Amino acid sequence: MSVTFWAQYAWLPHVNGQVVERDVLIGTVDGGRIAEVTPDSGPCPPGAVRLEGLLVPGQANAHSHAFHRALRGTVQVGSGTFWTWRDTMYRVASALDPDSYLALATAVYAEMALAGITAVGEFHYLHHAPGGARYDDPNAMGEALIEAAARAGIRITLLDTCYLASGFGTEPTKPQLRFSDGDADAWAARADGLKPREHARIGAAVHSVRAVPADQLDTVAHWSSMRRAPLHVHLSEQTAENDACLNAHGVTPTRLLADHGVLGPRTSAVHATHLTDEDVRLLADSATTICMCPTTERDLADGIGPARRLASAGCPVTLGSDSHAVIDPFEEARALELNERLHTRTRGHWTANALLRAGTEDGHASLGWPESGRIEVGALADFTVLALDSVRTAGPPARLGAETAVFAASAADVRHVVVGGRQIVRDGVHQLVTDVPAALRDSIAALSS
Ligand SMILES: [Zn+2]
Repeated sequence: MSVTFWAQYAWLPHVNGQVVERDVLIGTVDGGRIAEVTPDSGPCPPGAVRLEGLLVPGQANAHSHAFHRALRGTVQVGSGTFWTWRDTMYRVASALDPDSYLALATAVYAEMALAGITAVGEFHYLHHAPGGARYDDPNAMGEALIEAAARAGIRITLLDTCYLASGFGTEPTKPQLRFSDGDADAWAARADGLKPREHARIGAAVHSVRAVPADQLDTVAHWSSMRRAPLHVHLSEQTAENDACLNAHGVTPTRLLADHGVLGPRTSAVHATHLTDEDVRLLADSATTICMCPTTERDLADGIGPARRLASAGCPVTLGSDSHAVIDPFEEARALELNERLHTRTRGHWTANALLRAGTEDGHASLGWPESGRIEVGALADFTVLALDSVRTAGPPARLGAETAVFAASAADVRHVVVGGRQIVRDGVHQLVTDVPAALRDSIAALSS
């Protein structure tokens, strides 16, 4: 089915960079690809779907753990550390089974859709039943996530995560038993059972150098290499990880990953907060993507990673909501710049266009969807429309739409969302999940009942 959309304004690629154009006709064809982009087309023609506001490419949430959404609020009581936060997270994880995870993840992905997110990279390590027993389908949990994305109408890259150890030379702890396949060969054999679909692609992840012994890293890297699949890894989020890695191997986590073939242009290093000069060089020389998760990193008191330095050295940068302390891709984007401002006491490290690109084109590429994230002929018809007449966005001229989107808008300003030419959010209402707050409330309450 071909559908034509008319956007009041759209942020479009241009020979001189991105520009905001008005009265943009976007035609789509079977398969949900963009067949026509015509700016200055005049008023909305009969039969076209009218989209008031600023149309931007769909947002790619490059790093998600869907079940962390159940922690919102509860982990803000008192103080604690990253490690006490993790203990609470493990308690929630222990309550999930394929049915309850399907319900929770459907609600979380619907929240993402309402925030303008059209593709999620799910860093998935909750593979087995509590204690480590296998489900009848050993991929039942991963399949629940793929189905949840379908129900919420968004794309997913399931980053099936290898997680084998609780630390360097230590076996998994009790809550971690359900994360482990035993060794990387068994992980690969199970991951082989996952198949891509129209809305879903399969990638790999190394949980971290803490959780995957060095002699197992090559197997995961090889698996992703053979499939040309994305490979993601948590990297140096905490200085304790760096210290333990140096103690065990005499090298930094980045160096260890480089020595075992984990870095490269299909790889995303998530966080990359505490790096040495050599780490930065290794990541840049290998064209590894850096996924920053600013709202989670500030929530967990991780520190401010060297995103600007890495980008200047040549690393693409993407954005993720990770623990879902909030789900707001515009907040993630502006936090990248605003963190740098606080850190350096100077302004102007990232343009609004560069920040939007991180959340769209580069984010999709890092998840193995290089044909999404741009409004151009041949690309997937994935886009998000932001209100320019809300209390947050009214006032600036439309030509400053990118600046308004990044520095003033919030998820609450997302008015329409289209994935593959299909409208899944209309006037701020999800078209597939009828009551998203109730779905979140009920699926989270079910975990403590
Ligand atoms: Zn994470």
